Amino acid sequence: SNIGSQKERVVTEEEWLQKWEMGNIGFHKEQGHPLLQKYLDVLLNGRSGLRIFFPLCGKAVEMKWLADMGHSVVGVEVSEQAVKEFFSEHSLPYCEEPVPEISGAKMFQSTSGNISLYCCSIYDLSSSVVGKFDGVWDRGALVAVNPRDRQRYASLMISLVEKNSSYLLVTVSYDPNKHKGPPFYVPESEIKSLFG
Ligand code: SAH
Repeated sequence: SNIGSQKERVVTEEEWLQKWEMGNIGFHKEQGHPLLQKYLDVLLNGRSGLRIFFPLCGKAVEMKWLADMGHSVVGVEVSEQAVKEFFSEHSLPYCEEPVPEISGAKMFQSTSGNISLYCCSIYDLSSSVVGKFDGVWDRGALVAVNPRDRQRYASLMISLVEKNSSYLLVTVSYDPNKHKGPPFYVPESEIKSLFG
């Protein structure tokens, strides 16, 4: 295996905040992700009114899509700028409140109530704060997690989903010796060992 070159790499929360400040957000897709459209049926599995989680959400436009379909969307994102840009770019009024269980965290919620974005580290969340989810859209999330934190991330995600949930995961395939990441290369064998 040649993925050793990325194993030690760490991107700090401060560096993510700087990316947002500098507008260095090439990962953001204005048009939304074609794979969510393609696999929407798998995510929903005929169900309506789901609770759907967006880990490391940025200002992903797919949150608006799913909310408009009648689902309830919860995201988590360290950058307050990203969260505010999400609401303003979709002209969604919102309110902002502290999260009593998590020091320093804030929750931004659309006035209509169906989109709640937690501004804190994902590692601060637990099912006692956000509940459990019926579906997950993991794009730019597992692949953005520092390689050393993958196990912790996967265990947390497993603790946040209901038994009958669907988890859509998007990864990127490339030679990890040619790019330092993120996005990091996560081989399928590792996904199997992380999520079973
Ligand atoms: N999923 C989004 C964003 C991908 S980029 C999309 O598809 O567009 C990864 C995002 O995770 C960045 O916005 C970064 O600020 C955020 N992030 C990084 N580490 C985080 C952490 N520990 N907790 C919450 N958000 C984090």
